[in-house]
Amino acid sequence: MDAADLGFDPLFRDSKGRAVATPDFGGNPVADTHAHLDMLDDPALALARAAIAGVGFIATVADVTEDAWRTYAELDSWLAGASELLAQAGMAEVALPRVRIILGAHPHNAKDWTPEARAEFERLVADPRTCAVGEMGLDFHYDHSPRDVQRAVFAEHIALASTHGLPAVVHLREAHADGAAILAESGPPPAGFILHCFNLAPADAAPFVDLGAHVSFAGPVTFKKAEEVRDAARAADAGRLLTETDCPFMAPEPFRGTTCEPALVTFTAARIAEARAEQPTQFARASYAAAIALLDRDRS
Ligand SMILES: [Zn+2]
Ligand SMILES: [Zn+2]
Repeated sequence: MDAADLGFDPLFRDSKGRAVATPDFGGNPVADTHAHLDMLDDPALALARAAIAGVGFIATVADVTEDAWRTYAELDSWLAGASELLAQAGMAEVALPRVRIILGAHPHNAKDWTPEARAEFERLVADPRTCAVGEMGLDFHYDHSPRDVQRAVFAEHIALASTHGLPAVVHLREAHADGAAILAESGPPPAGFILHCFNLAPADAAPFVDLGAHVSFAGPVTFKKAEEVRDAARAADAGRLLTETDCPFMAPEPFRGTTCEPALVTFTAARIAEARAEQPTQFARASYAAAIALLDRDRS
């Protein structure tokens, strides 16, 4: 078995099977600040591919109303599996990403935030790999949970982030006014918060930036017609701009519509650097430093 057999060389192919070059950041790592590794078919393979692409840090979401415990139980074996794949490909020297965990209940699942789920949260949040609380927030597009329940569970999650000294990872869909009001009323967690998968215009980000938000961009910032999202990325303060995939959703161009994976954050980062007219090297350094400062704090 070699790198080509494993699909590592080339790492990326377009829909017509042609090799697509991995974006070059001059050897600087990039961060995927929001992944759902537990939703991928093969998390070990995805971690190996992320390592080869130059992803140095991943924050993966674990939902206590689903099977958050599985990420905590299996993460080490996913990483060991990734190491093994790299060794098989003759790439044993490639460093694996550091992986940490975002813990909470998705707004879709707010109705399942029971005393048992809260007890599970308290049990898992003590694990030093937990780096943030979330994803929390409001999703009024799907309305999988009643809106009042979503609002109450969001406020409770903000309080939990504050209590545990962790940043909050906020998901908002068609609910930005309500979301900003709840954050303002609760007071954002002292450790900060991320407005994740931001895909609107600069004016939509402004109330959150005023509250101290980090703004995180995923695949949509690369979409051809998403000029206003790129305007938001241009407007963002370099120290508060993050990159993510939200994989398996939201694959960036030129892979839109396919299953997303952490390795693809490199394409999102490259597109933002281009939109901001920054050198990829400079952009990678700044966005990686912002991600690490927020999400890779020592808790032990
Ligand atoms: Zn989300
Ligand atoms: Zn997500």
